[in-house]
Parts: sequence; C-alpha cells; structure tokens
Amino acid sequence: MVDVGVVGAGAGAAALSYVVDGAHPSADLTVLEKSGGVCGRAATRRRDDVTYDYGANYLRDDDARVNALVADVLGTDGLADVTEPVYTFDADGDVSPGRDDDRRKWSYTGGLTQIAKRLFAATDATVHRHTRVETLERNGETETWSVTVDVPHATPVTRGGSDVWLAVTADTGGLTDPEETAELTVEPTPRLETVLDVLAELGFSLELSECLGDPDERYTTDRPYVQRFEFDPEGSEYEDALDGIEVRTDPRADDLAVVVDVDRHAGVLSELLQTDHESTTLVIDSTDRSDVEQQFVETIENALSN
Ligand SMILES: Cc1cc2nc3c(=O)[nH]c(=O)nc-3n(C[C@H](O)[C@H](O)[C@H](O)COP(=O)(O)OP(=O)(O)OC[C@H]3O[C@@H](n4cnc5c(N)ncnc54)[C@H](O)[C@@H]3O)c2cc1C
Repeated sequence: MVDVGVVGAGAGAAALSYVVDGAHPSADLTVLEKSGGVCGRAATRRRDDVTYDYGANYLRDDDARVNALVADVLGTDGLADVTEPVYTFDADGDVSPGRDDDRRKWSYTGGLTQIAKRLFAATDATVHRHTRVETLERNGETETWSVTVDVPHATPVTRGGSDVWLAVTADTGGLTDPEETAELTVEPTPRLETVLDVLAELGFSLELSECLGDPDERYTTDRPYVQRFEFDPEGSEYEDALDGIEVRTDPRADDLAVVVDVDRHAGVLSELLQTDHESTTLVIDSTDRSDVEQQFVETIENALSN
C-alpha cells in the first residue's frame, strides 16, 4: 500500500490524482486544499441563475490529450461549445470585444471547476477542504530500490579514492529526472579482489588508485585507459627493501593481466637511471589466494635479487 499526499486541489492536482489512481489503484490518496472548493485558479461562482468563471474560463481543443480527456474522462454532459465571440467587461461594466481569437473553446454549463470535480470523482482520492498545509517535513523514512546495472567487466573499481563515472540508461517510465546522479560502488572482479586481498595480507596498504589514459594500449588490450593502484610497504616485511609497489590491471574475460612495478630502495644514481624499478607482467587466472600470493612473492623476491 502506498500513501500519497497531494497539496492543493487545483486542476493540476486533480490530473495528478487521476493518473496516480490509474497507475496504482491500491494507492491511498489524500488531497489537502486550503480553500472551500476545488480547481484552484479555475474558479466558478453562482449568482441567482447565473454561473460564471472568474479565473480560467475555457479549454482549447488544440491538444489531442485534452480532447481525449474531455471525451473519455470528463464526459460531454454539460459540455458547452463556445462558438460565439467572447466579450469582456471591466469593473465599470463597460463591455468591449475580447481578443481576436476565434479558435474553438469549451466550457461546462456548471462552470470550469467541473474539470477537477469530475477528475476527483473518477478516483478514490479523499479531498479535505479548508485544510491549509503549513509545512512539509521528511519523516526520516527512506526507500530502497534494488537496481541491477550491468557494467563492462573492465570498469574501473571504486577503491583507493578512485571516482568512477558511469552513464546509465534506465527505463523508469519518465518518473526520474534524467539529470539526476546517484552514488554507485563498483566492486572488483573476483580475480582483482583476490589480488587486492593478497597484497593487503602481505602487509601492503593501498595508498591511491587512479585511472590513466593508455592510448597506445600498452597495458590494456581493448580500451584506452588503465587503472593503476599504488601500495605502500610500510608495516610489511618488505618495508626496508621497497619504496612501493604499483599495479596496473587489465581485467579480461578469461583472466586478469597485472603489470607489477616493484620500486626498490636504491641510491640516487639508480633512481636517476631508473634502474630501481622492475616491471613484471602476471597473468592471474585463478582466485586461489595461495597461488596468487606465490606469484606476487616470487615477483617481489626476483625484483630484490636483481
Ligand atoms: C484570471 C485567469 C484566467 C485564466 N484563464 C485561463 C483559460 O481561459 N484557460 C486556461 O487553460 N487557463 C487559464 N488560466 C490559467 C489556469 O487557471 C491555471 O493554469 C490553472 O488553473 C492552474 O492549475 P494548478 O492546479 O496548477 O494551480 P492552481 O489552480 O493555482 O491550484 C493550486 C491549488 O492549491 C491550493 N493551495 C495552495 N497552497 C496551499 C496550501 N499551502 N495548502 C493547501 N492548499 C493549497 C490552492 O488553493 C489551489 O486550489 C487563467 C488564470 C487566471 C488567474
């Protein structure tokens, strides 16, 4: 059961109630209107046997949806086709020709408020008149929808401070704002998760993750970007031997290619000559932690022995 509250009982609220009632027949609709009547600025008054509209005074027939609404929902009972020219009069009672507009116009012999009256009558909405809404407050309840979004398996993951933007096309029946954004978390694939877990178990902490352009597909096979993870060895058994480890990942359909860049502690000369780095490409095709750990330990030990 859905509870829907509507503020105001104008023609807009009546149309909304009609649509919501049709889409969710079990919805409980409550309309709160501050004045004594419905239809807001389309306002009808009666004096003796004269009915007059002092707000909106006619409907036009130039929108197919309005025509369908009039014919199928509001009903033609009392529908008045205004074919004669419309004259206006002012507060002094002076009558003058109205706008030069001879397009077809409709009204109701009972006044234009029939629009809201008939729409509300076609729903189960409860309309409370003389009820002004003073404030609107969130009651703290939140609603959660479960949404499945298929993303390419090589989508960068939201770890180590990496922001990932995903453009998602969702068929929400027009109920959401297309400009709206939502926060998503992209989890690693099982193989990448194993790699991140293994490095954490070896004592390395993830310092940073970022996406880099890889226009020449040096690290990747089918896209122009690569995700790079930077790990700090402090606290690991390698903290005295290494400055850090960088990992560039290429998640593929059948395996995960990982370029491991081991940065050794070295003298200034080595750093200048860039001989303090050792790059190795690993192919991870398992999620077995001890296998993956062995691959990383061997890679680090090899780099240290060179
Ligand atoms: C003089 C005049 C002539 C017009 N002529 C035409 C015409 O010939 N044809 C045409 O198509 N359009 C015409 N319009 C425009 C038409 O009247 C409006 O576009 C239409 O009525 C707007 O409907 P609505 O439901 O959006 O808002 P509204 O009609 O303004 O309805 C809002 C409702 O909310 C209620 N409300 C507001 N605040 C609160 C609150 N805090 N708590 C509870 N209730 C609240 C109000 O009392 C009102 O009933 C005319 C307008 C005017 C003023």
